[in-house]
Order: sequence, then structure tokens, then C-alpha cells
Amino acid sequence: MSERHDKEAAAPRQEVLGLSEEGRPLCLFWAGDPAAHLRVLVVGEQHGDEPRTRSAVEHFVSALPATAAVCLAAVPSLNPDGAKRRQRTNARGIDLNRDHLRLTAAETRALHSFVRRWRPHLVVDVHTYPPRRHTLLRHGLVHCHDLFLDAATYPGVPRGTVTARNESLLPRLLTALGVRGYLSGRYVVTTPTGKVRHSTTDITNLRNGLALRYGIATLLVEGRELLRRDTLADRARLLAGLRDAIEIGTEWAVHNPQMFKVPQCPTGKRMAIRCRHARSDCACTILFHDAETGVARAAAMPGTYFGSIKTTRRVRVPAAYAVASTHGALLEVLRHHGFEGLPGRAIGASMLAGIAAPGLRRTLQDYLLFPVTADGGQALVTYLEPRSKYGLWRYPDLGLAESRAADPVIRVPAEAPSQ
Ligand SMILES: [Zn+2]
Repeated sequence: MSERHDKEAAAPRQEVLGLSEEGRPLCLFWAGDPAAHLRVLVVGEQHGDEPRTRSAVEHFVSALPATAAVCLAAVPSLNPDGAKRRQRTNARGIDLNRDHLRLTAAETRALHSFVRRWRPHLVVDVHTYPPRRHTLLRHGLVHCHDLFLDAATYPGVPRGTVTARNESLLPRLLTALGVRGYLSGRYVVTTPTGKVRHSTTDITNLRNGLALRYGIATLLVEGRELLRRDTLADRARLLAGLRDAIEIGTEWAVHNPQMFKVPQCPTGKRMAIRCRHARSDCACTILFHDAETGVARAAAMPGTYFGSIKTTRRVRVPAAYAVASTHGALLEVLRHHGFEGLPGRAIGASMLAGIAAPGLRRTLQDYLLFPVTADGGQALVTYLEPRSKYGLWRYPDLGLAESRAADPVIRVPAEAPSQ
């Protein structure tokens, strides 16, 4: 018995998370101490044309000692079909890092299903970024940061979740990377409209999507892609930088266990559903390489800097949302997120007792009810509110805006109105 266990411990622990659209296995590797309280998930190669992310995750897993104070799960390649074709998207042309709301791809569905089961405290999402961008080259600039980092930015993420606003995350990680000799900064980009901002607030990506749905701390790591002038030593350093960023993020989690709290149910509270990037007074000045000479120089990111995020609309969170049972496509998205609706007619006394209007009670007979008190139910507010900036109403194929039913989604109030 013990001999068999020894053999199991010595072998690399791995399992198959699921299958890609073309049937390739999505491999999951386990490392560290299976009994550790802290759970960290690392995901590489969501984008099939970023093979160095897979290598970095594999290096990190193989070097992590079994005595590490963390139980680590790692998916070096979430997009093996894209990697096979050296393309960004999966075999069906879906950008996986824009699919964490709809979950239309087999790969993202498999990942979410695992996250729901295993509940990591921290997810590290590893990418690479192109240093030569049109908006910069026009100004003779090339990005020279070894690494850019960011964390969740969507303001509807449950209270208490570690996000980019949290002082103890990004500044500390960037300092730690600096100590190891890497030039790193918070991810910043110039959009086609000339807006300089940090990473998107949209919940379609892994960072904001998982943080919203599960209250998980999420860290984006973007390593610089190679330039023609990079030496072999540069290449090795950039790969080591990706691996070190995963390590530093994991170490931060080990030393800050108090940061990981279970999000509280937001029913009755007000939650952000719309936001915008707010303009800063100053420019965003960072270090670049001169496109001609390769010499480093500080310069302002071209464009107007929108450095912070402002919530522009909140709603009071109801007890539940009711979705018309005719809206199969919407119900399927919710099911992929682990939300099973309760038939309105089966609810009866407990919940419907709080609804004063008999008309509404009758209407709900043809609806499925999704209580916001369900595990991770705060995400329903973002998904289902008609005015939600990043909700499901924005997808015409879900047919919510043109619904023939008068109300495809009904808010079920939190408290009985006084009579
Ligand atoms: Zn990427």
C-alpha cells in the first residue's frame, strides 16, 4: 500500500481537464504540497501564438518543490489547437481570453468547471505582448518592459476580492521583480481611439471574469515578446522573467493568506453595473526603447491617459433574477457558469411570499429563478441587468433586447414591499 503511494508521489501528477474543440487533451499538472491550505492555479497559452507562456508554466511547475506551502494546479496550454496552428484563437476562431462570459468554447468551459470544483485562491494568467505597436512606432518608440502585470479591474467584482486597486498586490510584485533585475510595470496600452489606459474592465477575459464569478484574486502576467535584436541571453532572461513573475505572485499569496476572503452575499446592497475610464491630469510616462537606436528613454505614452476607473451606475441587488423559460440560449450560458434555475412554479411560499404583486407571482410561473444568494450569485447582477455595461444583453444572438416575451429577465425584489 505504502509502496504504491510512494510511486504515485514520485510520478508527475497530472490529469486531463477536458478536451479542446478538436479533441486534444487539456493537461493539468499538480505540484507543491497537496495538503497546503493555499491553492494557486496557473494558466498558460490561452492564446495559441504565445508558446513561451507554455514553456514558462512548465518550467515553474517542474521546479516547484513538494515542500512549497502551496498546492499548485497548472494548465500550461489552454489552447492546444491554436498552438498547433500558431494562431491566437482556438480551432473555431474563438479568442479564449474574450470568452469568459459567454463560455462558447470547450476550453473555457473546462477551465471554469475546474475552477468551480477546486476554488483556487489565486489564478495567474500568463501571456506575452508585442513590444512593437503601430501607435508607438509612429512616435519612434518600442516597449522595453520585460513584464507587464495587472489584476482585476472591473468594479463589480465582489467586495473584499483582491483587485488592481489593492495596494498590497501590484506595487509589491513590481518591486519584487525589480529586485530580481527585471524592468516591469503595470500593463498599459494605447487604444485605437488614442486612449491610454490599463487593461480592460470587460469581464470577457479571464482576469475579470473569474474575479467576478468566484471572488478569486487574479493576476495577469504579460512577458515581452522577442525582438530581432534580442540576444540568446535576452531570450533566456525573458523566459526566466515569465517564470519568476509566476513565482513572485505565488510567494505573495503564500505570505498574504489573510487577503483571501469568501465574498459576502450582496443582496440588498448596491453593486456597480457601469463604469468608465476616468481621465488623469498627467501623462503616463514610462521607459521605452528608441525604435531606431534601441537606446532607452522615458517618454509619455502617446494619447490621453485614463488612469483610473469610475463607476457610473449602480443597482440595488435583488433577491433573485427570473429568466423566461423560453430563453434557452441565455439559460445555457448561465448553466455553463454553474447556475441552475429553479422553476418559478416550484418556488412557492418561501421566496415568492416576499413578492407582493399577485400578477408578478403568476408571471413567474413561466420563469426560472436564479437566487443572487447562490454561490457566486453576485455575477448574475452583471450578467442579467439590462443596463449592465458588460452583461449578456449586449449579444444580439441571445435575443434579449428583441425578445417577444415582454420581460425576458425580471428582478425579484429583496424585501416584501410594505402594504
Ligand atoms: Zn495573450
